[in-house]
Amino acid sequence: MKAKLIDGKAIAAQIRAEVGEEVAKIKEQGKTPGLAVILVGDDPASHVYVRQKGKACEKVGIHSITKDLPADISQKELLDYVNQYNNDPKFNGLLVQLPLPDHIDSQRIIDAVAVKKDVDCFHPYNVGRLTIGKPVFMPATPAGIVELLKRSDISPSGRHVVIIGRSNIVGKPLANLLVQKNLDANAVVTVVHSAAGDIAHYTRQADILVAAIGKPEFVRGDMIKNNAVVIDVGVNRVDADNEKGYRLVGDVAFEEANEIASHITPVPGGVGPMTIAMLLKNTLTAFHLQNG
Ligand code: NAP
Repeated sequence: MKAKLIDGKAIAAQIRAEVGEEVAKIKEQGKTPGLAVILVGDDPASHVYVRQKGKACEKVGIHSITKDLPADISQKELLDYVNQYNNDPKFNGLLVQLPLPDHIDSQRIIDAVAVKKDVDCFHPYNVGRLTIGKPVFMPATPAGIVELLKRSDISPSGRHVVIIGRSNIVGKPLANLLVQKNLDANAVVTVVHSAAGDIAHYTRQADILVAAIGKPEFVRGDMIKNNAVVIDVGVNRVDADNEKGYRLVGDVAFEEANEIASHITPVPGGVGPMTIAMLLKNTLTAFHLQNG
């Protein structure tokens, strides 16, 4: 039997509608939540993501701007822009799209974002709050995964979640979220990475398997336990004979996993749309933080 598809597009649309309703209520009071996005350089994927974020804001009524900056901007100039938006009350949220050019110290930029505007939840203060179970903001992609599970009636409580990948953006914050003692989490979490050796040894034990590696179709069917829930975070371009010259595939070999898993997220249309929906939610959180 085929796995049940977890429709991230539809669930994200629900969340965006909820955010839109809340924004409409805020606007009735004469206020508008705002998000500033700083984009440095010409990375094509970053440009696509930032455009998607801007469009999503527009659709729900959040005021957003993108500050496009050249790849050769100095660290000092970039920090000045961060400070400018930190101090601009029109923008409740501020994010600097990663990756940044090599000559920029990304951590210094992340550290400079005002903690109350840190809608990406990358600032060490917000990461620390998350780790002790008292988050201010929720990291967008991991929170999107938790929300996908919740709205699909899949409880991680007491189940073994195996996460492949330990990045600061996906793997680690997801592990931090899922290990918390609360109703949406309470999981037994294993994080594996490139030093793990026999990856399949771990993945075959997963009730819920999350792949966040960045390698096309890395997870094969025989690495998955029968009836596991499979969450595919990966977005990889592979050559294809179509107009664009490429197609997007995940970190999981979908057709193989589809025969074994109980539930599965597609790529595209799974985790991706949730990331943007959670960013919108974080912008509302930032608005409320700053408007008591
Ligand atoms: P990343 O920073 O490159 O981290 C990749 C992780 O995978 C690292 O921890 C790495 O281990 C591990 N890894 C790599 N090869 C491995 C192997 N052969 N065996 C075991 N572990 C291995 O990537 P990321 O930012 O987390 O992103 C991962 C994927 O998710 C990418 O495809 C990205 O495009 C996608 N993504 C999607 C969204 C979305 O919204 N859908 C959001 C963020 C990311 P080491 O630490 O040992 O090097």
